[in-house]
Amino acid sequence: MVPAMFSGLTKEAILQIDPRDCKRTLVKEELEMIFRACDALWHHPGTKNPKAPHSILTSGKHSNIYIDCPQVLQRSNLCQIMAMQLHYLIQSFYSGPIDWVIGSDSSALGISKDMANLLNVRWHPMQKGPNKTQLWEKATMACGEWVLHVEELLTTSLTTQAVRDGIKKGNPNQVNFVPFIPLLVHRPDKNAPEKIDNSKLIWLLHYDTYVVDPEKEECELCKNGSPALLAKENWNKLVATM
Ligand SMILES: [Zn+2]
Repeated sequence: MVPAMFSGLTKEAILQIDPRDCKRTLVKEELEMIFRACDALWHHPGTKNPKAPHSILTSGKHSNIYIDCPQVLQRSNLCQIMAMQLHYLIQSFYSGPIDWVIGSDSSALGISKDMANLLNVRWHPMQKGPNKTQLWEKATMACGEWVLHVEELLTTSLTTQAVRDGIKKGNPNQVNFVPFIPLLVHRPDKNAPEKIDNSKLIWLLHYDTYVVDPEKEECELCKNGSPALLAKENWNKLVATM
């Protein structure tokens, strides 16, 4: 059940929500309403409607889900709302020290800054390096300081691990990582770990992902009679069946 604040709101009204009016934990339905208002979320209805269409990704693979967090986070009011939600989430797991909030370049820079604002702690941008590395440069953490690492979306652990490696490599002092990594969306592939570098992944939204390369193996969704459609070109058809 969706609390009264969100029920009946138009897409335009959702896009305009003021973070000051949103100081409570949002339920899954409300978070999904925000993502959907930004055209940032679609997922196949599964057994409820197996013949509903599914999406073809830019890679040509077929999938039961499409998530585009930057569509939400590029809106400063919604980015602040998501940062607040991650703040509530981490508070429910952890009450220890936090001296810095850090997120990957470029996906999690905005939300990590907004979270640092809420916690009134330090922030410094990671920078993309060669070969998918994340670099920490031009700032120094003091010995023993505590780092909260947040991310927008996790599918594989590669970027998240690269952030940890970059912080350790770029700092002369030994630092501590908060033992939780808050995520907006947890969409793990089959090899994604539960912990990264001893920090447990925690999230606002979780989706089980089905991704298959139809050139290599049979797509179960196609087999069940669901048409495969290019996501962006057929967005309205896809979201109509959610
Ligand atoms: Zn398919």
